[in-house]
Amino acid sequence: MEGKISISPLLSDKWKKRPLIISGPCSAETEEQVLQTAIQLAETGVVDIFRAGIWKPRTRPGTFEGVGTKGLPWLQKVRQVTGLPVTVEVASAKQVEDALHFEMDVLWIGARSAVNPLSVQDIANALRGTNVPVLVKNPLNPDIELWTGAVERLAKAGVENIGLVHRGFSTFGNTEYRNTPMWHMAIEMKRRNPHLMMICDPSHICGRRDILQELSQKAIDLDYDGLMIESHIDPDRALSDAKQQITPLQLKKLIDSIKWRHESTNENSFNLALEKLREQINQLDDELMQLLSQRMKIADKIGEYKKENNITILQATRWNEILEKASTKGKLLGLSEEFISKYFDAVHIESINHQNKVMNS
Ligand code: PEP
Ligand code: MN
Repeated sequence: MEGKISISPLLSDKWKKRPLIISGPCSAETEEQVLQTAIQLAETGVVDIFRAGIWKPRTRPGTFEGVGTKGLPWLQKVRQVTGLPVTVEVASAKQVEDALHFEMDVLWIGARSAVNPLSVQDIANALRGTNVPVLVKNPLNPDIELWTGAVERLAKAGVENIGLVHRGFSTFGNTEYRNTPMWHMAIEMKRRNPHLMMICDPSHICGRRDILQELSQKAIDLDYDGLMIESHIDPDRALSDAKQQITPLQLKKLIDSIKWRHESTNENSFNLALEKLREQINQLDDELMQLLSQRMKIADKIGEYKKENNITILQATRWNEILEKASTKGKLLGLSEEFISKYFDAVHIESINHQNKVMNS
């Protein structure tokens, strides 16, 4: 099922600016820390919304779980002092009520809540009749229907301003990232919901400071509508997510270093050149399809021979041979090993399906 939801773009009137920069500490720890971080962030002039976690859904118990409701007045003070709108994470109906009581400007649903339809429904019910914008982070696991379902639950409860936050997905074992981005998931979510803004959260994807800039640039190159980046006045001493937080000054440097690109331009010569190149791509894609179709027709023939001679479809040695050759050749042609492997797997499966059909017909 395609998740088409007709709701207006997030923050449509109030915060039109793109890209939208949301920043603030992972967690509110003390009033002083919250205020100082907010003041320094406001001084950078690059931040549009201040974030802080009050209730922290932590993976393991015994770690800092947030200051709770007493942090909400600190955020009100942030708005008073800096003029920045404020946002907090909510994970239950009660937290929604508290957050709204203290007039939070935007709410967000975290990755650990987005996985649970009961939690999301609980939150959605509490939001009925309010008009606060809500950002929905991707669920921990790469399930686009779950992410879509969360958005639908909010939309059905009448939440009009919904945005998406891509914060990466949990994987087993060590990778370069804390949460692998799986960009294709976010791109597909964006394709399905072009009217919803998509923000990237490089902090939780990277889990470390040194690759934050590179990842943020990539998100901007992929036409994301904004970034949510954690910032703390004293990152190394943060009570949660210390390794990934940066100081307000580092945040400013990061944002200033990003090369902003546009989705389109009115420049005629550029558009003409682009159109020509796209025409070539369309042509090549068409040829590739024709070639793939020819390839599958040959697979059908092989299927017939195998059927007559009672031979199995899969011959592992032959397949390994093809893969090895393709990988070497792909490298020479400037194609990555990962791509070649994925491409040949897909072709192979299609080929097996074709042969299977012939052999069992
Ligand atoms: C957070 O934003 O601090 C947070 C807990 O994020 P996530 O839900 O993406 O893990
Ligand atoms: Mn965090």
